[in-house]
Amino acid sequence: MTFVPSREVQVPRRALLFSLAALAAPVAAAFFAPESLGSYSALLWLTALLPAFLLAYYRGWRGVATSLALGMATLSLTQAAAAWVGRPPPDLLLGVVAVYLLISLALGWLAEQLHRDREEAADMAFTDLLTGLPNRRHADIFLRDEFAAAQRGRTVAVVLFDLDDFKGYNDRHGHSAGDEALRMFGTVLKANTRRMNLAARYGGEEFLAVLAGSNPQGAAIFANRVREALLEERLGDPPLTVSAGVAVYDEGVDDGAALLRAADAALYEAKRAGRNQVKVSGGLPETPPDGAAASRGRPWVPDGDGLDAVTERRQPEGEPVGSMLLVDHDAEAIEVIGAMATGLGLEVVTARSAAMAMRCLTRDFDLLAADMHLPDGSAQEVVRIARGRWPRLQILALTPLQDARVTADAVHAGADRTLFKPLDPGQLRAHLSQMMQERAAALERAIDARPLSAEGRHRESATRDAILRSARAVVAAVEARDPYIRGQGRQVAALAIRLLELHAAGGAPAVDPDLLRLACELRDVGKIGVPDQILNKAGALSDEEHAIVRAHARTGRRILEPLMDDGVVLDGVAWHHEWWDGTGYPDGLVGEEIPFAARVVALADVIHAMSHDRAFRPALPWSEVEAYLRDHRGRRFDPTLTDLVLDHLDDFRPIHASAARDDAEPTTPLDGW
Ligand code: GH3
Ligand code: MG
Ligand code: MG
Repeated sequence: MTFVPSREVQVPRRALLFSLAALAAPVAAAFFAPESLGSYSALLWLTALLPAFLLAYYRGWRGVATSLALGMATLSLTQAAAAWVGRPPPDLLLGVVAVYLLISLALGWLAEQLHRDREEAADMAFTDLLTGLPNRRHADIFLRDEFAAAQRGRTVAVVLFDLDDFKGYNDRHGHSAGDEALRMFGTVLKANTRRMNLAARYGGEEFLAVLAGSNPQGAAIFANRVREALLEERLGDPPLTVSAGVAVYDEGVDDGAALLRAADAALYEAKRAGRNQVKVSGGLPETPPDGAAASRGRPWVPDGDGLDAVTERRQPEGEPVGSMLLVDHDAEAIEVIGAMATGLGLEVVTARSAAMAMRCLTRDFDLLAADMHLPDGSAQEVVRIARGRWPRLQILALTPLQDARVTADAVHAGADRTLFKPLDPGQLRAHLSQMMQERAAALERAIDARPLSAEGRHRESATRDAILRSARAVVAAVEARDPYIRGQGRQVAALAIRLLELHAAGGAPAVDPDLLRLACELRDVGKIGVPDQILNKAGALSDEEHAIVRAHARTGRRILEPLMDDGVVLDGVAWHHEWWDGTGYPDGLVGEEIPFAARVVALADVIHAMSHDRAFRPALPWSEVEAYLRDHRGRRFDPTLTDLVLDHLDDFRPIHASAARDDAEPTTPLDGW
């Protein structure tokens, strides 16, 4: 990639006017003052050099050629003018032409040299001289562009490398050996980086790789490959090693700089954990992605529960009475709130950024306290997502004093209450204890909701019916437009319920079967936002069309949220396209971050879809369905759930056999409810 300015520079209008005026001068002199200038008129020809200067400056050789043509035309015009007024042509004509030609050529050559120097200088401005790699400025521009692409739906990962104990290496082997080592690492890094990505020297002994479209596993594998390749070079004794920090684009991350900060924090963890290793910001799932464990025979080392590397936990004195997620980056606030909350018996997990908070929110906390001003992203988004995932979570938003807009945004996003910073300890304590009471009451209500009085049951069922009628209307509207999904919901639900039964195997099911069934039936309700021609397109979808289809997961959730606050249904609708390895959509959740219900719906949905005709392909043979499940176990699907299907194939195969019969019957998808 080059950042050299384009050679196609526009010649400014002013320069063109100057040039024309300069060329007009000798012509005008030949017309209007042929006598008074006499043989000096030849000197007036010097003005004709002005266009040569200007055009050569702006357009190089091409400019020179233009100016020569213009000069010659002017000369002919002057000749004609002289003949017309009856005067012999200027004496020095031949000499003038020769000098003009020479000067123009010299100018052209000079201009070319200048252009080349300028290109080299520009190249150098973006290249590190020692290693020949792109430098920090180049990397920043590349990252900015990639980040913008990530916000449009592609992912991006950054890996920050820092050579270990490089000061010591310099001390032991000398500075020039140090330089040589840097060059060598540059070569190793470049050799391992794909063309579409960027490897740059980011600082003294810091290097940065920007990986377009990469997920956490991919980036970690890359980083480990580079780390091992450096080891194999055996530079010095003990051999020089490198540590790396990986961060991957996440919805809550505001810009490239925030991504780099997350990578830097992970790098710091790698250093702290003993160097010569890779840490991923936010951790990796426990299950090794295919091929990762095979990385040069090294065992896959899971990263704890993924939260410890980036969060801090504080335990109360005795047995915790509840848990709180504290999202703040201000050390003093973390200390004050953490102490207060543990004093009240809460276990406190602290996330210092929005991105970390998003990862933590895969767990059900009792309380959430979030500063609405986070360095790396939208705190409002954290609150919104927390509210969406955990309807009974008590949320306290910490806002700057008297900023009504931030306060209003926080409440709008779903905060239960707000508290101004700087914090008043008395108020903080009051809020926290009230929130604990509210939480307990909310949980109790949820339990109480079951044995209702006859009248209560009637009221509840009337409300539920009303809700379901609205949802049913939307689903029916979607199905009316796509013949291939008509009646599908009930069948997907049947598969999901069977899977749930197998999973529970005699014990209590992990989620309410009725709700799971509803989740299956409503999972594609968001397709109401996808135009017919895309829904029924026979060929492959364009990137843009894909993006529109992918939006259905979020749209579905948005449609249902105001109608119901049920986690199982909303989870299933929002996240049934997430992949176990983190490459799914809409949130790129990884492993158990994906709620259980969504993992079940995903599996049932795919088994069903593959077994049936779709607009873009006919139904696949059962052997292919089975092969796909085996192949995507641990990649797309929860490995445990996939194993349940593979161990009980007889339970699932009939759906395939029924494929030919069901599409004639336009059933209402919510019949089973
Ligand atoms: P750590 O494992 O914590 O990273 O230890 P470190 O010694 O690498 O720590 P630090 O980052 O503080 O040291 C960086 C050293 O890298 C200091 C500096 O002498 C050396 N260095 C930076 N740029 C160059 C360079 O261009 N050439 C050489 N030879 N050394 C460099
Ligand atoms: Mg350093
Ligand atoms: Mg270092």
